[in-house]
Amino acid sequence: MKLLLQFIFSLVLLSCIQETKNKSVTENLSDPFLDDHSYSNLNEIKTRHLHLELDVNFRSKKIFGVARHRMLNLNNADTAIFDIKGIEIQKVTTGEKNAENEADFVIGKYDKDSILGQPLLVKIDPKDSIVNIYYKTTENSEALDWLEPKLTSSKLHPFLYTQGQAILTRTWIPIQDSPSNRFTYSAEVKVPKHLKAVMSAKNSREKSENGIYNFSMPNSIPSYLIALAVGDLNYTPLSSNTGFYCEPQLTKKCKNEFVDLPKMLVAAEKLYGKYRWNQYDLLVLPYSFPFGGMENPMLTFVNPTIITGDRSLVSVIAHELAHSWSGNLVSNKTWNDFWINEGFTVYFEHRIMEELYGKEIADILALVEIFELDEEIIRIKNSKHPEDSKLLLNLNQRNPDEGMTDIAYVKGAWFLRSLEARAGRKVFDKFLNYYFSSFAFSTISTRDFIDYLKKNLLSQQNIDFNYNEWINQEGLPNNKIEISSPRLLKMKELAYKFSNEEDVFAPKIRYERIRIKKKIKKKKIVEQLKKEDFITQEWQMFIRYLPKSITVDKLERLNSYFGFNRTENAEIALDWFTLCINANYDGVLPDIERFLRKIGRRKFVLPLYELLAQKPQYKNFAKTLFDSQKNYYHAVTKNSVEKLFMN
Ligand SMILES: [Zn+2]
Repeated sequence: MKLLLQFIFSLVLLSCIQETKNKSVTENLSDPFLDDHSYSNLNEIKTRHLHLELDVNFRSKKIFGVARHRMLNLNNADTAIFDIKGIEIQKVTTGEKNAENEADFVIGKYDKDSILGQPLLVKIDPKDSIVNIYYKTTENSEALDWLEPKLTSSKLHPFLYTQGQAILTRTWIPIQDSPSNRFTYSAEVKVPKHLKAVMSAKNSREKSENGIYNFSMPNSIPSYLIALAVGDLNYTPLSSNTGFYCEPQLTKKCKNEFVDLPKMLVAAEKLYGKYRWNQYDLLVLPYSFPFGGMENPMLTFVNPTIITGDRSLVSVIAHELAHSWSGNLVSNKTWNDFWINEGFTVYFEHRIMEELYGKEIADILALVEIFELDEEIIRIKNSKHPEDSKLLLNLNQRNPDEGMTDIAYVKGAWFLRSLEARAGRKVFDKFLNYYFSSFAFSTISTRDFIDYLKKNLLSQQNIDFNYNEWINQEGLPNNKIEISSPRLLKMKELAYKFSNEEDVFAPKIRYERIRIKKKIKKKKIVEQLKKEDFITQEWQMFIRYLPKSITVDKLERLNSYFGFNRTENAEIALDWFTLCINANYDGVLPDIERFLRKIGRRKFVLPLYELLAQKPQYKNFAKTLFDSQKNYYHAVTKNSVEKLFMN
C-alpha cells in the first residue's frame, strides 16, 4: 500500500468537504452537482464508465475487487474524490490496465454519525483519465447480504446479493456515490463454479463452466443501481424479452405468479413509450431481502413474499417495471428529490394495473395506500421531523433512508393523480410521454421538474395548479382527488357488523324446495363467506376497519374461520398481527415470532417490532427475538430496527 499523508493536501480538502456538508438544501439546489450524501467532487471530475473485476469468496465472505473508473475531468482537477464505507483500500493506480502508475491517496475521517462513510482522495495528474482502486470488502460492507445455505429455498448452496439504494453502493465499490451522476459499467465476476452470478446488466442465461461471468450495462445509470447476486439460479423465459431467475425449486410457483409480466410490459409501453433497456427480467431473492422489490435495471430484484399463489401482490412487479421509466430512465438528482422516483412510479404502477385488471382493482390498491398515507402523515407530524411530509425533503446530515416513507410514494402519486384530474387524462399522458423522453438517461431535481411542468403543461394549457403547496408544504392539500370502492365499503360494513356482535362469517343454513322425480323435497343449503371470496387488499381493509379494542374472543373466532395466525400472505399477516398486538392477544406471539424469523422485508419487520417495543408487556419479547435474529436481517432492516432498542 502506498499511503502518502500529505498534510496540507488532506487538510484543505477535508475542510472544503465539511463546508459542503453543512450547506442547506436550497443552496445545494442552485448547484447542479452538490449532493448532501456524497463526498465526491462531481463538479470537477466524474466517472463516465466503470469496469469492475470482482472475486466473490464465500468462505471469507469477502469480495476482492478492482474498480477501474474512466473519468471526465471537467475542471483540470488534480484530485478525484470517491465515497467509501466499510471497505479496505489496498492500492490506487492511474492509467490503462497493465500500464498503471501508483497514485497517492488519503482516506478522510468518518463523518460524525458514520452515515456517509469516508472520502477517498486520490491525487491525479489532470491528464489522467483512468483511476483504478484495488480493494476488499469487510464485514461492515452493509450492501452485502451473505446467506448461509439454510436461509435459501434449497438449503444446499449459499447466496449473496447486494442492495445499494440509497447510499450503500460505497460499501462494496469505491465510487462517486451520488444519483446525480450517470455512467455505463461492465464487470468480470468470478464465483464458485457451481453457482451463477447475475447483475443489473446484460446477463448470460446459462451457468458458466469456469465460474467467470462477464456483464455490460450499455446505458448510463446512477451508482445505486449497480447490483450483483450469486446463487444456485436457473433462468425461465416468459416471452422474447422477459423472464426470471430463481432457485430451481421455485420455478413452477414463480412461473404461475409472473405469467402476466409480458402483458404488463406491453401496457407500460402503450402508456409512456418504448422500453429502453432491451431485456426485462426478475430475480427472486431469499426472504431476508429488505425491500418488496428493487428496480435494478434489466434485472429487478424481488422479495419472495410477493409470491402468494393467487397473484394478488403482482402490483409490486408493475411497480418495479414502471421504474424502468421513472427512476431508472429519469432519476432523482439527490435523495431529497426521492419522490421524483417513487411518486411517478406509484402513479405509473396504478395505470398499468388499471390497463390489465380494470379500474376497480387499481382503485382498491390506491385506497389501501391512502389509508397508510393518512397514518404516516400523523406519525410524521408527531415525530422529530414534522417537515418530512413535504415532497421535497431536506435530509442533510440524516440517513437518506429516513426519506423512504409513504410521502414520496403515495403523496407523490396523489399529486400526479390530482394533476391528471385537473388537466384531463389525454393531455396529462401526452405530457408524461414528453417528460420521459425529454429527460431520458438524465437526473433531475424537484426544481427541474417544476420548471418543466410550468412550461410544458400549466402555461400551455392555461392551468392554475397549487404545485407549490403539494411540494413544499406539509400534509395533503384540499384538492386531493377522492375515490371510493363499493367492494371496500362492503368490507367496512362486514367489519362493523362483526365487531357489533353479528357473526357474519358463521355458516348460515337455509332450505330450498326442489323437485326430484315429481316429488317436492326440502334441500339444506349451507352458506358461508370464504377466504377466497375476497382478494388480499379487501382482507387488509377488513382487518384495518376492526376496532383496536376488539376482544380476544372475536380474534380467535376470526382465526378459526380464516387461519390468519398462520397465513402465508405477509400483507395480511402484518395487518392481522398489528390488530392482535393492539388488542393484547398474547396467543398470537408464537406466530409473530415465526413470521419475524422467516421474513426480513423492512416493511413488515419494522412496524411489528415498533409496536411490540411500545407495549411494556411485549418489549422484552421483541428485544430478545431481535437480538437472536438481527444477523439474519440485511443491514437496511437491522439498522432501522436497532434504533428502537437504543434507549
Ligand atoms: Zn419504487
